[in-house]
Amino acid sequence: PAPAPEKLGLVGRLFGRSAPANEPRRELDDEMLESLEELLISADMGVDTALRVTANMAEGRFGKKLSSREIKELLASEITRIMEPVAKPLPIYPKKPQVVLVVGVNGSGKTTTIGKLASQFRAAGKNVVIAAGDTFRAAAVEQLQVWGERANVPVLTAPEGSDPASLAFDAMTKAEEDGADLLMIDTAGRLQNRADLMEELAKIVRVIRKKDPSAPHNTLLVLDATTGQNALNQVDTFQKLADVSGLVMTKLDGTAKGGVLVALADRFGLPIHAIGVGEQIDDLDAFDPEEFAKALTG
Ligand code: GDP
Repeated sequence: PAPAPEKLGLVGRLFGRSAPANEPRRELDDEMLESLEELLISADMGVDTALRVTANMAEGRFGKKLSSREIKELLASEITRIMEPVAKPLPIYPKKPQVVLVVGVNGSGKTTTIGKLASQFRAAGKNVVIAAGDTFRAAAVEQLQVWGERANVPVLTAPEGSDPASLAFDAMTKAEEDGADLLMIDTAGRLQNRADLMEELAKIVRVIRKKDPSAPHNTLLVLDATTGQNALNQVDTFQKLADVSGLVMTKLDGTAKGGVLVALADRFGLPIHAIGVGEQIDDLDAFDPEEFAKALTG
C-alpha cells in the first residue's frame, strides 16, 4: 500500500508518488525553487538555511530539467554537506574523571539521554558516575535512579531542594575515589527563572573547577526535535547560560521536523554528538549525515 502523504519525504511530496518509469522531469525554475523552499521551511529548516540550500541547488543548474530522483540526490547532498562537519561523537579524553555537564530545558530528554549515554559508556568498559543535579525535581531524581539501575551505574542524589553545586562537589569526590572514567552531571532546566539558573550552573562549574580546573570537559545541550524552530532559541539561551560544547537532539523518531538540525548546524556549527530515536535504553544513535539527509529528503 502507498504510504500516507505525510510519510513521503520532502521531494516525494513535491513530485507526488509517480512510478519511476513515468517519472516526470521538471524544470529547475523559480517556481520549483519556491516550492522547494516552502517544503524545507515546512520541515523546520528556517528561512535562511532553506534559501541557502536552494540557491546552492540552483547554481549552474537553473533552467535544467531534472527528475525527482536527481532533485532528491541534489537536495540530499546539499544537506549532507552542511551536516558532515557537525557529526562528531562525544570526544573521550584520557582525563579521569571526564566531567560531562548536561543542560537543557525540562522535558527535552536530559534524564533519558544521560541514562542512554551511561549505558553506552558502560558497554564500552567505562566506569561512570551520575549526579542527579536537578535537586528541585524529585521526579527527575527518581527517573535518573531508574536509569542508573538499568545502566548499572551509581547515581548520586541529594535531598530535595539542596544545593546542586554541593552535590556536584561530592560527585567529583566520589568519581575520583572510584577512579571513574566519566562523571555525568544532570542540571535543572527551569528557564522561567534564567538569572537563578545561570547562577546555579555557574556555581556548579566553579565548584567542580576547585577539584579540576579543566572541568567540565563537555557541556552537552539536550534539545527536543519536536520543538522545531524553538530549538534555535534554546541554543541561543543556553549559550548565554553555559559554555555549550555540543548537542544531543532527542525525539527524532516521532517528528517530520528534523529539518531544524540543518538550521542548527548552519547557524551554530556545534557538534551533534548523538540523536535520540526512542524511549528505550538503546535508542541513542550516532548522527549519520548521509542517512539523515536521505531520510529527510525521502
Ligand atoms: P528531562 O526533563 O529533560 O530530563 O526529560 P526526560 O528525559 O524525562 O524526557 C522527557 C520525555 O521524553 C520522557 O517521556 C522520555 O521518555 C521522552 N524521550 C526522551 N528522549 C526521547 C527520544 O529520543 N524519543 C522519544 N520518542 N521520546 C524520548
